[in-house]
Amino acid sequence: MIDKSAYTSILDELGPGVQLVAVSKTKPVEDIMALYDLGQRDFGENYVQELVDKQAQLPADIRWHFIGHLQSNKVKYIAAFVHLIHGVDSLRLLKEIHKQAARHHRTIPCLLQVHIAREETKFGLDAAELEEVLQAVRTTPQEFTHIRIRGLMGMASFTEDESKLQEEFKGLKALFDRHFGAAQSSPNQLFLLSMGMSGDYRIAIREGSNMVRIGSLLFGKRTG
Ligand SMILES: *Cc1c(COP(=O)(O)O)cnc(C)c1O
Repeated sequence: MIDKSAYTSILDELGPGVQLVAVSKTKPVEDIMALYDLGQRDFGENYVQELVDKQAQLPADIRWHFIGHLQSNKVKYIAAFVHLIHGVDSLRLLKEIHKQAARHHRTIPCLLQVHIAREETKFGLDAAELEEVLQAVRTTPQEFTHIRIRGLMGMASFTEDESKLQEEFKGLKALFDRHFGAAQSSPNQLFLLSMGMSGDYRIAIREGSNMVRIGSLLFGKRTG
């Protein structure tokens, strides 16, 4: 069951400056269709097999975001259709995305995932590794012609401590500004800062997010 009033009030809150990715992982295609019928087109999934199954059953104009941890050997299953890959956390993965995108004559937009949470369990690059990846792409652009780095993604700690969340989002925004700041952006090349989920999206927006990934507020709690 989707929460229609939550959807409309979240859209109101976000306004035109923040894009909403509706995170539909573990939820049935009927729920996705219900939100689709209200006009939502951007959906996020974080398991490859589940994404492939759903994509095959749902309208072709859905923009599928892969938001989970992507293993290099699975890129080939989503390369034909994925709209944006949020969780790129290594050069090796970026090269594989380039290779698979080339096979499909596509350019795949990617976000580099930065590790902002203090928790050890979350994936992502630290500031130095981020610099290294961007440097590699800058110095050997011919190896990355089928990908486009569109910005950064991060997940904050799982906590209710607002000052901690704020601090983590601020850190990511600072990295975003350093590497994708005003000097490099233009009206037709908007860079993306994907941060904020059901529990912390308001703080993320205040700290400069322009793309939020919201699941449970729209689709209800996930079980299991
Ligand atoms: C599940 C998930 C979300 C959405 O989480 P909610 O708390 O349900 O909004 C956002 N981003 C990522 C990477 C996720 O795995």
